[in-house]
Amino acid sequence: MTKKILIDLEKFRSIPGKRGDESPPEGLYKPSVKQNGLKSIRELAVFNMTCRNCVDAPCVAVCPADALEKDPQGVISRSTNLCVSCKSCVVICPFGTMMSDFFEYHRDKDNYYDVLNEHELELFIKRSPKGAVEVVELEEDPENEIYSLNKHILVREHKWKTENLKSN
Ligand code: SF4
Ligand code: SF4
Repeated sequence: MTKKILIDLEKFRSIPGKRGDESPPEGLYKPSVKQNGLKSIRELAVFNMTCRNCVDAPCVAVCPADALEKDPQGVISRSTNLCVSCKSCVVICPFGTMMSDFFEYHRDKDNYYDVLNEHELELFIKRSPKGAVEVVELEEDPENEIYSLNKHILVREHKWKTENLKSN
């Protein structure tokens, strides 16, 4: 089975004090950031898996810089080049989807690690919260809340599904 990188979003959310002085380390998956500046795997994962894809997308409407848009599948994406880090989208999101540190204006480029580079991946794992980034031999496993972001990356997240509403 091919090795993959498993990112646990819940563990990243639990970093104490991460909203303060130090940003958490960012895994960067280069093939997925081609057109829009640096984007972290966490941001891609949150927009693809945590976001509830609101039909009226208040985050898009409130953005003063036209930095957010929906792709044809309804997934939000952010143009990091346009974003001015006002965090209005974070405040208006009714589901608390976004982690506000995605939107720091002057991101420290040294804080990004290319997860497809063995050495950088090692550093990324070392700097991340314990167990938040792992190299695993697994496939997508929705029953255990593990979802595929792309062919190299798996994400563990409490993914919102419409069935959640029906069971309540
Ligand atoms: S933080 Fe960026 S993406 Fe969010 S509303 Fe402000 S400019 Fe738009
Ligand atoms: S408001 Fe929040 S949940 Fe709704 S589309 Fe925007 S990020 Fe997703």
